Amino acid sequence: MAEVVRTTCPYCGVGCGVLVTKEDDGSYTAQGDPDHPANLGRLCSKGSALVETLDDNARLLYPQMDGKRAFWDKALARVSSEFKYAIDTYGPDSVAFYVSGQLMTEAYYVANKLMKGYIGSANIDTNSRLCMASSVAGHKRAFGSDTVPGNYEDLELADMVVLVGSNLAWCHPVLYQRLTAAKRERGTHIVVVDPRKTATCDIADQHLALKSGTDVKLFNGLLSHMAELGSTDRGFAQAHTTGMDEALEAARFDAPDIRSVAEVCGLDTADVLDFYKTFRRTPKVVTVYSQGVNQSSRGTDKVNAIINCHLLTGRIGKPGCGPFSVTGQPNAMGGREVGGLANTLAAHMDFDDASIDRVRRFWNAPRMAQQPGLKAVDLFEAIHRGKIKALWVMATNPAVSMPDANRVRRALELCQFVAVSDCVAHNDTITYADVVLPTTTWGERDGTVTNSERRISRQRPFRDAPGEAREDWDIICDVAGRMGYGAAFSYETAGDIFQEHAELSAFENNGSRDFDLSGLMGQPYEFAPVQWPLRHRGGGGQERMFAEGGFYTPDRRARFLAVRYQQAVHQPDTAYPLVLNTGRVRDHWHTMTRTGLSARLGRHRAEPTVELHPGDAERYGLVDGSLAKLASPQGEAVLRVRVDDGQQPGSVFVPIHWNDTNSANAVVSRLVGAVTDPVSGQPESKHTPVSVSAYNAKWQALVVTRGLPVASDNGYWTQITGEGCVLIAVADSEDVADWLSWARDRVDGGDRDWLSYSDPAGGSHRFAALQNGMLQAAVFVSRHSDLPSLDWVQAQFALDALGDVERAGLLAGRAPGDAFDSGPMVCSCFSVGINDLRRAIADGTMLSVEAIGEALQAGTNCGSCKPEIQAVLDQELQKAEVNTLRQEVA
Ligand code: SF4
Repeated sequence: MAEVVRTTCPYCGVGCGVLVTKEDDGSYTAQGDPDHPANLGRLCSKGSALVETLDDNARLLYPQMDGKRAFWDKALARVSSEFKYAIDTYGPDSVAFYVSGQLMTEAYYVANKLMKGYIGSANIDTNSRLCMASSVAGHKRAFGSDTVPGNYEDLELADMVVLVGSNLAWCHPVLYQRLTAAKRERGTHIVVVDPRKTATCDIADQHLALKSGTDVKLFNGLLSHMAELGSTDRGFAQAHTTGMDEALEAARFDAPDIRSVAEVCGLDTADVLDFYKTFRRTPKVVTVYSQGVNQSSRGTDKVNAIINCHLLTGRIGKPGCGPFSVTGQPNAMGGREVGGLANTLAAHMDFDDASIDRVRRFWNAPRMAQQPGLKAVDLFEAIHRGKIKALWVMATNPAVSMPDANRVRRALELCQFVAVSDCVAHNDTITYADVVLPTTTWGERDGTVTNSERRISRQRPFRDAPGEAREDWDIICDVAGRMGYGAAFSYETAGDIFQEHAELSAFENNGSRDFDLSGLMGQPYEFAPVQWPLRHRGGGGQERMFAEGGFYTPDRRARFLAVRYQQAVHQPDTAYPLVLNTGRVRDHWHTMTRTGLSARLGRHRAEPTVELHPGDAERYGLVDGSLAKLASPQGEAVLRVRVDDGQQPGSVFVPIHWNDTNSANAVVSRLVGAVTDPVSGQPESKHTPVSVSAYNAKWQALVVTRGLPVASDNGYWTQITGEGCVLIAVADSEDVADWLSWARDRVDGGDRDWLSYSDPAGGSHRFAALQNGMLQAAVFVSRHSDLPSLDWVQAQFALDALGDVERAGLLAGRAPGDAFDSGPMVCSCFSVGINDLRRAIADGTMLSVEAIGEALQAGTNCGSCKPEIQAVLDQELQKAEVNTLRQEVA
């Protein structure tokens, strides 16, 4: 009988349950776990494609030292001795860990214990600093603890949901599905507050396309408006809060009237008034916020401006009410729980004397850190100053994700010793490592993660790790042992670590701290998904918090914060006139080390893009599909242009996923400045002044190869996984003298029969490499954009041998007869491309998303693509209308 393993998705903070089945033929299938409260059986396009990413080809299989394979013993001895040498010579603060929301809670816990309790420094920070540090800081300022008050069900129980700086449809797709279903059933009023018109706007009753960074002004205006019209829950405010008068005074000063709010935010006064009225009159409101709020030089103030509105109205901790921060990473919350942030201690305790002493006693720690450590941006700056001598990067890629990535790369170069633990053989950070340690990944590892609603779930292994990969927690404990701390790190299993984590959460707690896992102490590790706090054995976790006050400040009252709108630190000027916003695309995750392995996911956005408004495109001489160069004082990128009228004039959007492993000049963090929020230390990734200009490519090429692609030094290239091949788009502003040599150099060597066609005058060159009649590589070069259909080219790689017709087609650069190309993928679950949709719509029979779903299945599995299907439908119908009008006029 097929074996089923219950685990969770490794991507976003929704934390969906996944059932993985090992089939009789040894393959795996995955489906949403109907019993997991986060997703109730749903998955998004990324989750649905999880088993396609179980590919060991790109894995790091063995430890490496100085670029060469090494024994575990030698590699770990080197890590421990380098760290010990730095600590003994320069002190504990000369070393640092940079860790990740991709780690299991257990690995996070031991990394934090080693650094803060045994090394004696707090220089451990996490890539969650880039994701939600402002929410943590905002929660702590308001609630006295980093507590998310509500849960996912609140999105279904609310009568109004406000989504601020959150493209829920793409970044938390299963929550979007739940909200869409709720809207269908009960007519939830949805407002999207976002400078961009994103896919999420598809279900919005109102889209407030405010100017980037003006959120504090908008919510101060709301606070002041509600207070003025008597919408205050006086009972709640008087019994459970302090600071309301000061916050109101600040809000009134900052936002004296709706007209001035609208002006600063770049909105219509009537729209702002509508929003305020609906918010004021709707008792059940949830305000969801995400990276658009957090990744800002005023991120913490934005969080508190939102929380203020919920405190004023007492809309917190009740069903269907509350401010709700949704996290990007699968275990950002677990990291917050163990103290993965440099400015927190452990189990939601801070660096106050009592907590330092409590944790010291619990850990029996010989050398407790006495103060917060360096936050991410400061940490890499400290390497530049020679303060950090040894760095251990775990499960993250700061060379791609940190702001001012060029400077971070120089820091990695300068650092005396860099260790990297990762599951992949190559990424941009590994390039700088002295020692690389292979780790297990999803499907192989054992542990827990916490999602955005405080729900702890298990990730369970269902396959063997390849090569010599080991669990992160096991590697960290091994190093700790070699540094002389073996007794404190002698865990047998991940479950042992979780037990200690639960015990620390309960230690001298007695209700004084929000994070409490008392109910899991002494219990089997095989527990079902559960929310914290869980104060009693056998009881359930607490679903919601703070409806009756009980905040974790000294007087147990929540704090209103008096905040005032301030502009983002850097504003556009004549040299850099546009604002760069960054974010995710629907089907990719982080730096694509996993999602990049799926051919289906790769086709949704096959190339790194810059999205800009049609007016800006015209102003800068750019057309859809052309190439553009983006520049900031920090760096440059070359990207494919997407003209999008959902983009605000004066701003551009670039995805975060591309890196030097799969593209040239497409790391957007190279442009982003290292400006941070003064409270949270979170970088401002959504407001960098940039310039844009055309990148004048003299030619474009499509290189398709069965083997490993060879790195290109051209001005633009990017690759995706295809069906049985790799697809590489290339362009350059320089001519090539010998095209056949260029083509041969782009693909794997070996004996090949080369077919070639060249038209130097027309600028077209085409080559095909065959082995025993089977296609190994194909290269198409053109001065124009007339490159062949990807579907057709990929189909040639599936043939055992090419006949005369196929060979002629490759040299002609097009399919014999009428080949149809599905185009960029819209529905990844059923491989329905934009051209499939256009053809179906042109037919005249499918004039709704539902009709398209019935005929093509598109949108009927995870539903993540429904907004895009609707957008294609609208565009095509608009085109058809214009054509009809034209015909009538003619
Ligand atoms: Fe994974 Fe998608 Fe669920 Fe996020 S919404 S956890 S990416 S299946």
